[in-house]
Amino acid sequence: MHPFIPNIYKLEIDITYLCTLKCHNCNRGISVAPPVKEHNMSVEQIRRFIDQSITSNHPWEQIKLIGGEPTIHPQIDIIIELLYTYKADYNKQLDLRVVSNGTTSFTRNKLDQIQTAYPDIIIENSGKVDNFIPGFSLSHIAPRDIYAFKNHRYRGCWVSEECGIGLNFSGFYCCSIGGSIARLFNHEIAVRNVEDLNFDTLMNMYDKVCSLCGMYHNLKATGVNDETILSPTWQNQIDNLDPLEILPKY
Ligand code: SF4
Ligand code: SF4
Repeated sequence: MHPFIPNIYKLEIDITYLCTLKCHNCNRGISVAPPVKEHNMSVEQIRRFIDQSITSNHPWEQIKLIGGEPTIHPQIDIIIELLYTYKADYNKQLDLRVVSNGTTSFTRNKLDQIQTAYPDIIIENSGKVDNFIPGFSLSHIAPRDIYAFKNHRYRGCWVSEECGIGLNFSGFYCCSIGGSIARLFNHEIAVRNVEDLNFDTLMNMYDKVCSLCGMYHNLKATGVNDETILSPTWQNQIDNLDPLEILPKY
């Protein structure tokens, strides 16, 4: 079968991994590894991303601010203003979105403020109320721990094609979930400049991150999803994780 082709015109930016929930089997690892503020993106990094996008004239079609819960990033207002100015001055067709769990009153108020100030920013509010989200993939069952995937050549999944590529504090990845896996496994595979984004480089990440990603085999949590399950590779990594062992920054 052919590999999935990353959509390099759509981008999910994990500006923070801090969150107001710890949903079981969250594909950003939030229920297994307490997120740290050191994994927040800085305003300087967002400026760098915008400068690189302008210099390379990259035709972004969609950019989502996501995480984690993006509304609790302490510089969310500045980040939105910077991206909105980029949209207005350089990329008017850009579909700019904020993706939120909508759980706390603080977050809902922040979303209202954003919508009032920027009516053409699209708010995606999933309206979560607790950590039990039915139907989540078992994100921490690594395919490499399943016998059927021994010697498998990983080829990505629909996420990279449909949701696009990912950016976090350490750089660009084949998808945002892959970026979170790389941060938890300390894989130094990120692309650090928009002009270096190409299909080959991104698809070369698949073996590293898809082999650890439960989205790959499509096993789902059953019932009310009240338990986070880890396969041996994940359990070993989380048991020995130093959350402050930080990848080089973007
Ligand atoms: S709200 Fe989203 S990012 Fe936060 S723990 Fe739940 S699934 Fe993960
Ligand atoms: S890391 Fe996971 S979500 Fe991303 S392409 Fe691979 S299997 Fe899909």
